[in-house]
Amino acid sequence: MRCWHCNHELIWGGDHDGEKEDEYDMVSNLSCPNCDTDVYVYHTFPSDDDTNIQQDLFSPDMWEHYCPVEETDMEIGKGEECNWCGETE
Ligand SMILES: [Zn+2]
Ligand SMILES: [Zn+2]
Repeated sequence: MRCWHCNHELIWGGDHDGEKEDEYDMVSNLSCPNCDTDVYVYHTFPSDDDTNIQQDLFSPDMWEHYCPVEETDMEIGKGEECNWCGETE
């Protein structure tokens, strides 16, 4: 990407994640070494990206179980039975 002012090639200074309250998900910071111009590129990812991230965070090695003994939802390791009621997946 080139500088709007002097057409010099911009230097990439890094990416920063947006905070939850921001309207963007990531901002890239570029600067021009020739004319002291800073350029910020704001990225907003499609909302279904969040779903993918959440799926990545959910451990695939666990299964969800509503335990009638503990009367609560819990996650149990794959292949293991519930410590409370003995139920398996
Ligand atoms: Zn420039
Ligand atoms: Zn149980």
